[in-house]
Amino acid sequence: RLEIRNLVRVFDGRRVVDDVSLHIRAGQVTCLLGPSGCGKSTTLRMIAGVEMQDSGEIYVDGKLICDTVFRVPPERREIGLMFQDFALFPHLSVAGNVAFGLKGSREEKRARVEELLARVSLGGHIDSYPHQLSGGEQQRVALARALAPRPRIMLMDEPFSGLDNRLRDGIRDDTLALLKEEDAAVLLVTHEPEEAMRMADEIALMRGGRIVQQGAPYNVYTRPADRAAVAFFSDIN
Ligand code: ATP
Ligand code: MG
Repeated sequence: RLEIRNLVRVFDGRRVVDDVSLHIRAGQVTCLLGPSGCGKSTTLRMIAGVEMQDSGEIYVDGKLICDTVFRVPPERREIGLMFQDFALFPHLSVAGNVAFGLKGSREEKRARVEELLARVSLGGHIDSYPHQLSGGEQQRVALARALAPRPRIMLMDEPFSGLDNRLRDGIRDDTLALLKEEDAAVLLVTHEPEEAMRMADEIALMRGGRIVQQGAPYNVYTRPADRAAVAFFSDIN
């Protein structure tokens, strides 16, 4: 599980992330939902360890991984990352991409790679290269790569926004099923309310660096905390 307490990040005197706290259990998806510039990606980057907070603490499975003096480096945080552009390694095959962060013997790595690629229906593309795949296929390779080392936490920053509408619903459902099987605590950033309603166990609405409302999707949707939250959901029908 992931717990963040009172995270703050200041850029140029502005509190871009302003006292954000979240608690996500294993097997749960929390959607961080909010308008452009509200601090979503900055929050994720601090959890991933590629950006340092000005104050606040981050815990994984109850263990402190980062405060203002102590800091576990990003590669040892057991956190899987998936971003909008997938960022596959172009010079590595599909198998090479998925095996990239894996430890263990050749056979163990191969078994995990084959298991995940079969799970995302890409068993036939194991020796292909990223440029030979469609956008949806690349997305699934990126998902398999992020999950391969069995991360306790998955951070996903608009992982579906590069896909065309026709594909998106199916890929969302498949992704969600796999995340549940792997039992990771998931923090998914989106600015699409519909995506959050579809995928989240819990929604956290963010605005101006703060979490303004948090709860089950149905409750947030039916009892929005303020006018801005109402406006935010008004384009779903
Ligand atoms: P989007 O939905 O557009 O991706 P976001 O919620 O992810 O937006 P962030 O990327 O977290 O927003 O940025 C929040 C604010 O912090 C923005 O106003 C941005 O300009 C500012 N910001 C982010 N990184 C830096 C930086 N390295 N230096 C200065 N300002 C920054
Ligand atoms: Mg962002």
